[in-house]
Amino acid sequence: HAKKNGGNNFCFSTPDQNMEMDRKFQMELELKNALASDEFKIVYQPLINLKNNQIVGVEALLRWKNKELGSVSPIEFIPILEKTGQIIQVGKWILWSVCNQMKMWQENGTYLERISVNVSPIQFKDKKFVQDLKQIINETELDASYIELEITEGTILEIENVSQTLHDLQELGVKVSIDDFGTGYSSLSYLKQLPIDTLKIDKSFIDDLDMDGEIIVNTIISMGKNLRFRVIAEGIETPQQLNYLKKQECHEGQGYYFSRPVNDKEIALLYKKLQSK
Ligand code: C2E
Ligand code: MG
Ligand code: MG
Ligand code: MG
Repeated sequence: HAKKNGGNNFCFSTPDQNMEMDRKFQMELELKNALASDEFKIVYQPLINLKNNQIVGVEALLRWKNKELGSVSPIEFIPILEKTGQIIQVGKWILWSVCNQMKMWQENGTYLERISVNVSPIQFKDKKFVQDLKQIINETELDASYIELEITEGTILEIENVSQTLHDLQELGVKVSIDDFGTGYSSLSYLKQLPIDTLKIDKSFIDDLDMDGEIIVNTIISMGKNLRFRVIAEGIETPQQLNYLKKQECHEGQGYYFSRPVNDKEIALLYKKLQSK
């Protein structure tokens, strides 16, 4: 560290920046062993059909709990895994885990239409991505049509042979959704030329429903539906937001209003509970 205003030392950064550097450095160090030390787990957040209130699927979300750092948000640690390239290995573990989990739910009577998995651009542009996924699908014996990969508009726009990869995935039989839709710069007409199944409207637009944001949400829902995308609203927290989305006939919803991300057993319980309604 450069000492603050000390003697001949130059001050390169503020104490705050130093602390942030330390934390990032420590995270990077701890992440090296995280997979081997069993520090990752996956939680699942229900996707709800807004017509009949049934649970149609789940989104898998990664969690990291470390003995030194405690629970760290994926917003913080995913970028580090991307920087070090570890996201490739961790991503494979996630894909294997979710395929396996889906298979187990099916064997125990929890029949979901789909499991949605976030895929980092680094992972997506890896040459072996489709091949690895295919192997995982074969090993776990899960039908590929149950898997949906979530990528962002950034991934679509920044990666060179994105169209080829998307067509390879289509051939493999997995679905693709655009996560955080509306926050990037892709156009619906461009997305429609690609084999993409689902648009997930970003939470920020759903938040704006509480303050005159209806027009944008309406436009995304009606254009998305007319172009034959499945449309999902992310981050629904209030009954007012839900009622509005139902009125606009948005296909599916996800958010704390229905459930926070929970473990596999809680998903099975929730499934049974909603089915008996
Ligand atoms: P995302 O894919 O857009 O996931 C949705 C995030 O919104 C999740 O945060 C979820 O817990 C949160 N959320 C859902 N409903 C609500 C709500 O009603 N209110 C609020 N305030 N939040 C809600 P989480 O789990 O912290 O994940 C954050 C981001 O980290 C994800 O955003 C995704 O970009 C990334 N991420 C998480 N898991 C993975 C993973 O397995 N692989 C990769 N590559 N990225 C992941
Ligand atoms: Mg997502
Ligand atoms: Mg999202
Ligand atoms: Mg988001």
